[in-house]
Amino acid sequence: MKKFTHFIHGKPFADPKASIFVSNCPHSRRAVAEIALGDAETVDRSIRSNLEAFAEWRDVEPLRRGRILIDIGRKIRESADMLGKLDAEQAGKVPKQGPIEVEAAAQYFEFYGGLTTLDMGAVINNGSGYHAFTMRVPYGAIGVVTPWNVPLNQSARGIAPALAAGNVVTCKPSEYTSGTAVELAKIAVECGLPPGVLNVVLGTGAECGKALVSHPDISKVTFTGSVRTGQEIGHIAADRIIPLTLELGGKSANIIFEDADIDLAIKGSLAAFTSNAGQICSAGSRLLVARPIYDEVVKKIVVAARKLKIGSSDDADVGAITTEDQFRRIQGFFAIAEKDGARLECGGADMGEKDWGDGAYIPVTIYSGVTPTMRIAREEIFGPVLGIIPFDTEEDAIEIANDSDYGLAAGLWTENLRKAHRVAASIDAGYITVNHYDPCVLLPFGGFKKSGYGREKGIEALHHYCQIKSINIKL
Ligand code: NAD
Repeated sequence: MKKFTHFIHGKPFADPKASIFVSNCPHSRRAVAEIALGDAETVDRSIRSNLEAFAEWRDVEPLRRGRILIDIGRKIRESADMLGKLDAEQAGKVPKQGPIEVEAAAQYFEFYGGLTTLDMGAVINNGSGYHAFTMRVPYGAIGVVTPWNVPLNQSARGIAPALAAGNVVTCKPSEYTSGTAVELAKIAVECGLPPGVLNVVLGTGAECGKALVSHPDISKVTFTGSVRTGQEIGHIAADRIIPLTLELGGKSANIIFEDADIDLAIKGSLAAFTSNAGQICSAGSRLLVARPIYDEVVKKIVVAARKLKIGSSDDADVGAITTEDQFRRIQGFFAIAEKDGARLECGGADMGEKDWGDGAYIPVTIYSGVTPTMRIAREEIFGPVLGIIPFDTEEDAIEIANDSDYGLAAGLWTENLRKAHRVAASIDAGYITVNHYDPCVLLPFGGFKKSGYGREKGIEALHHYCQIKSINIKL
């Protein structure tokens, strides 16, 4: 059994009177880790350490700050095996997934490490009698709260740009998947990050998470998780008048036009809703298909889906569902889909003959004949479940895609460049891919509508971790 405790001011901090949360491996449903449960006192200790470190870190020469971040990226890559296995064990990922997510985590530190000297202000032409300029300055202590689905990657996504801008961070990962955030903090200190610049506190959202976002000395919060919690944190941030980045859920449309390379589209669309067993905020869980190719696409994607291997072996494609609550929630959608009249093509509630041991696995499930009003077309399922909706014209496709409370991502498959530009411009979503469905560290990422606000990734994220100061000198 692994044991994880808070990491504060450059070293582990264990509170002897703290309670413990036992987290299970979703592949076996057996206990694998003991996680310390922090409270308001733990959070306060972390923020005090953060503020002490901020006095030094904000003035560290930017090139040196960048070098430390780049070194963290290198060390993450060197530790890929350990980090990938830890996330796989705690979140139920397939072994193939680990290296992909670790690589992205390393890239965040390299990318932002290279930006510490750039784009931190502008000279404004206020006439020859003035020297007017802006400076991007750090906020101070940032709270980064992450969910259980992509633990290391999401921690790195928030932490790297915040540190690059000269802030200090307290990160609160999900209690189900806390291991890699603690390991990341250890790695950071080994790479020369001063104590207190990056702390990790562990615990539940209701106690530790809430204490973090409510702490009077936190100057900004970045939250990734559910809409419900995002709303709750939004109220707290509004009361405290601090900025907030919210990365919430999605119900992203993935559109295959008649002129698409169908085999390419099938391969990408399958990965779009089965990667990480569908537990991805940007999953392409609504597949919109042009009516003339609808039957062909349904047939081919079902054949491809049946070939995916479920489990924890090295060659498995689809892993387990991270939490028992989420496992039950996904199963609830099978009855809802049936009641709403969707046609089950594969997967679904029948788990009868599968050789999956005790793992929390859900079969890859595809419904055809889905209409935009059905609940499986409107609600985020967060599992390997796809609804396929036919459309007639380009305008129909855009209308159906935009008929959603969410607006995180969308995918388009077409060989027609003009159409790709037209449709991409008309879809209300923050990240749109054409002829692939892959994430990218370099591009700003975030939602329209209930998918959230603010942006992570890209240079935008760096800007979100800075406040602008204008200086206007009369010469
Ligand atoms: P969640 O909202 O329950 O929890 C997310 C994190 O917030 C956890 O660390 C949790 O402990 C903490 N938390 C819970 N209540 C809190 C509170 N009152 N105050 C402060 N912190 C609190 O979400 P989850 O169930 O862990 O994750 C799944 C959800 O996250 C899905 O809805 C998914 O769409 C969303 N998600 C979004 C993105 C994105 O980038 N947009 C990425 C991953 C997951």
